[in-house]
Amino acid sequence: MHFRKLLALAALVAATGAQAQNYPTKPIYLYIPFAAGGPTDTLGRNLAQVMGKPLKQQIIVENVVGAGGTVAVSRAAKASPDGYTVLLHHIGMSTAPALYRTLSFDPLKDFEYIGEVADVPMTVIARGNFPAANFTEFLTYLKANKDKVTYANAGLGAASHLCGLLFMSAIQTDFTTVPYKGTGPAMNDLLGGQVDFMCDQTTNTTGQINGGKVKVYGVTSKTRVPSLPSIPTLAEQGLKGFEVVVWHGLYVPKGTPKPVVDRLVGALQESVKDADFKANLAKLGAEPVSADRAKPESLHKLLQSEIAKWAPIIKKAGQYAD
Ligand code: ASP
Repeated sequence: MHFRKLLALAALVAATGAQAQNYPTKPIYLYIPFAAGGPTDTLGRNLAQVMGKPLKQQIIVENVVGAGGTVAVSRAAKASPDGYTVLLHHIGMSTAPALYRTLSFDPLKDFEYIGEVADVPMTVIARGNFPAANFTEFLTYLKANKDKVTYANAGLGAASHLCGLLFMSAIQTDFTTVPYKGTGPAMNDLLGGQVDFMCDQTTNTTGQINGGKVKVYGVTSKTRVPSLPSIPTLAEQGLKGFEVVVWHGLYVPKGTPKPVVDRLVGALQESVKDADFKANLAKLGAEPVSADRAKPESLHKLLQSEIAKWAPIIKKAGQYAD
C-alpha cells in the first residue's frame, strides 16, 4: 500500500479508537419495536432513565413500529455501528426467524449483544364487560362464539401474537385476530370494547386489572406473579405446560467497537442492580435479570436456545408471513 494511504488509514483507525474510548459524547437512540404507551415502551423508558445515569448521556426512546417488531430490528441491523443506535427487543427476536419466510436480518449474525434486561410475564385479559366470570366460563364462551370473538395483538412476531398462537392451539379454537402496532393502542381498543380479548405483558395490564377496567383469566408464567397473587396461572387451570415469559435483550449493530460494547454492558450491569429500576418494575409484575444474565454471552446463548425452542412449536402451529 502507498505510504500516504497507510498513514491515512492509521489516522482513521486512531480517530475511531479515540471516539470509542470517549463514548458516549452525544445522546443515544434506543429503538423500541412497538408503539408508545405499551409494555416494551414502558420497559424501554424505565431503562433509558436508569442507563443514562452511568453513561452520563441522555438516552432518547424512538418507537420504530411495524411488522410485529421486525421493522425496528431491520433498521437497527443497518444502523451505523457506533453505539448511538441501541435496540431493545423481546422474545420476538427469537420467534421471527420461524414466523417470516423472508427476513432482512439475521438475529444471530447482524448484532453485537449487550445483555438480557428483564423478564415480564403475560396475562390473558378481556374487555370489562366480557360475559365470563372465570376461566371455565371464558373457555365455554370462546368456543361457543368463536366466529365472532376477536383477539388483539401487536402483529406477527409480537409476544401477544405468540401467546395467542399458543393459546388458540392449546384450546384448539381459532379467532379473528386484529393486529396493532403495539399493545398500547390495542389496550385502548380493548378498554373501548372494540376488541374482545388479548394476552399482554403485566407491564401494560397490571394497572387496568387492579383498577377493575378489564377482566383477567390467568397469568402465563409457570408460577403466580408476586404482584398479582390472586390470579391463577393458565397451567393451574388446565392448560398443562402453558408458559410464556417475555425476556428482553439489548443489541447494537454488528461491528460496534469493543470499548463501546463494554461501556454499554457496564451501564446495563449497574441498571439491573438499581433499586428504583427494580421497584418500578416490581410494581408492574416484572423483574430485571440478575447481573450475570445482563451480559453479552448470556443473551447470545439465550437467543440461540430460544430460536431452537420456538421453531418447531411455531411450525406445528402453522403460521407464516412472507
Ligand atoms: N406487548 C406487545 C407484544 O405483544 C408489544 C408492545 O406493544 O410492547 O409484543
